Amino acid sequence: MGRRRRQKVRKRPQKRIPDVYDCPECGNTAIKIEVYKEKQFASVKCGACGLEMIIDEVNPLTEAVDVYGTFIDEYYKERSEEE
Ligand SMILES: [Zn+2]
Repeated sequence: MGRRRRQKVRKRPQKRIPDVYDCPECGNTAIKIEVYKEKQFASVKCGACGLEMIIDEVNPLTEAVDVYGTFIDEYYKERSEEE
């Protein structure tokens, strides 16, 4: 008889924390960050509202979370300049 054996579902240890961050524009956790270390820039893009920014302060030690920090700084700087 075709008795089905349940496959053990093993939870894998999280290899990568998804690079998704809070968007200062729309409030959704939809910011995706891609770091191109060879090209020394990173792109920040919100999947919800389309906010986009290129961060060109990238060095071999830069992590997505650093890029996010820079992005937030730049974002609020631009905003205060608009006033
Ligand atoms: Zn957004």
